[in-house]
Amino acid sequence: MDCIFCKIVDGAIPAKKVYEDEKILAFYDISPAAPVHILVIPKEHIESVVDLRKENVEIVSYIFEKIRTIAKDFNLDESGFRVVTNCGDDAGQTVKHLHFHILGGRTMQWPPG
Ligand code: C5P
Repeated sequence: MDCIFCKIVDGAIPAKKVYEDEKILAFYDISPAAPVHILVIPKEHIESVVDLRKENVEIVSYIFEKIRTIAKDFNLDESGFRVVTNCGDDAGQTVKHLHFHILGGRTMQWPPG
């Protein structure tokens, strides 16, 4: 499968890792949109939110638990931060492997563009 994030998981494409275990990987976004911009992905290839099934509930809640600790590690828990997952073309999803952006370190605008 030609998936950039699967290649990062396999080590075929380098990434600056923030956290890794057997189920998930967190790494710095290569093109940061905020002073802190980290992506958290399941190692298992799931294309997007649309492809989530009941059996994926555990990994998603696990990812959110790690998002909480990463935000704390980067001192974003008090100032605030944003968690984004783009789903599909209209949302601007460019990599078709489920990922959660952690964005922080600046004031965000709403609604997003
Ligand atoms: O939500 P979306 O699919 O647009 O986000 C993909 C993200 O993956 C982008 O922010 C892009 O900068 C990042 N990326 C990366 N490393 C790569 C390829 C893409 O951090 N090798």
